[in-house]
Amino acid sequence: MRAMVLDRPGQPLVMSERPMPQPGPGEILVAVSACGVCRTDLHVVDGELPHPKLPIVPGHEVVGRVAALGAGVAGLATGERVGIPWLGATCGHCPYCRAGRENLCDTPLFTGYTRDGGYATHTVADARYCFALPEGFDDAAAAPLLCAGLIGWRSYRMAGEGAALGIYGFGAAAHILAQVAVWQGRRVHAFTRAGDGAAQAFARSLGAAWAGGSDETPPEPLDAAIIFAPVGALVPAALRAVKKGGRVVCGGIHMSDIPSFPYAILWEERQVMSVANLTRADAREFLAIAPQSGLKTAVVRYPLERANAALDDLRSGRLQGAAVLFV
Ligand SMILES: [Zn+2]
Ligand SMILES: [Zn+2]
Repeated sequence: MRAMVLDRPGQPLVMSERPMPQPGPGEILVAVSACGVCRTDLHVVDGELPHPKLPIVPGHEVVGRVAALGAGVAGLATGERVGIPWLGATCGHCPYCRAGRENLCDTPLFTGYTRDGGYATHTVADARYCFALPEGFDDAAAAPLLCAGLIGWRSYRMAGEGAALGIYGFGAAAHILAQVAVWQGRRVHAFTRAGDGAAQAFARSLGAAWAGGSDETPPEPLDAAIIFAPVGALVPAALRAVKKGGRVVCGGIHMSDIPSFPYAILWEERQVMSVANLTRADAREFLAIAPQSGLKTAVVRYPLERANAALDDLRSGRLQGAAVLFV
C-alpha cells in the first residue's frame, strides 16, 4: 500500500510504500477512495497539536470500501462503502463514556492523529466507529461530511435554536452547516477574512442572508455565533455581535490566543464554549439529516500524492469549500 506519511511536524508529507496493514479483532481494512483534508490535519502537520503518533498518516474524513474483516466484526461485508471519522475509538468505561459523552473520553484514539488515517490507499479502522454514508453523495462529495459535517453539526447544535446565526470562517464546515441552517429557515451571517469577496459571494450563493468581513457588524444582532476559523481574536468580535443570552461556539481543535476583552461584552449571560470531537450519536444524526437537507458539498479534488499542495492551499485560504484527496 501507499501512504502520505508525516515523519516529523513541520516537514512535508512523504509518499511511502508500506506493507498492507492487517485488521485486528474488531477492525476492518478499508480500501480508501477519497479522504477529505481538514484544518485539523494542518494543525497536526504544523505541530500545533501535542503528541501525535509519529510517523503518522493524516486524514480523518475517509471514504472507502471494506477490503477485509478482522475477527469478530459483525454487520459489515467486504465491498461495502464506509466512512471513517475523527473519533477512532473510545474506552467505553471512563466517566465520560459512561455518561454518553464519548467525545470527551479519557483515552480516545483519533484517526490521522493518534492512529493512522486516510491519506493512503488503505487504512485500518475500528469497525464500531465507522459509518454507512448517505447515497446521493459520491465518494469525494461524502468525505467532507465526516468531519466538517459531523463536528460542524455538533457545533451547530450547541449554538442553539436562534434564528440569527453567525458563522466566522467560511471554509469546509461553514459551507455545509450554512446549507443546513438555511434549510431550517435560519438567517446565516457569514464572516470571512476582511476583503475576501470570493468567499463572501460563495456564502451568499449558499443562501447566507449577509456576508462580510469579520471586522464588520452584521445587520442584526446574532442569537449565536460559531467560530470555525482558528483565530482567537474572533472570540471578542463574536461576543460583540451576539445579543443578550447569546452563545459563541468555538468549533476548532486549535486556536491562536484569545486577546483580553472587557467583561461587559460577556455580561448579560453571553457564553463562550468549545466543541471537542464527536460522538457516534452525532454522526448518526447528521448523516441522516444531510440527505434530507439537500445540501451539496463543494469539493476541490487532488490526487493522493498532491496532499502537500492541498494542505498548502488550505493554509493560505485559497480553497472554496473542501479539499479532497482521491486515490
Ligand atoms: Zn472513555
Ligand atoms: Zn477534521
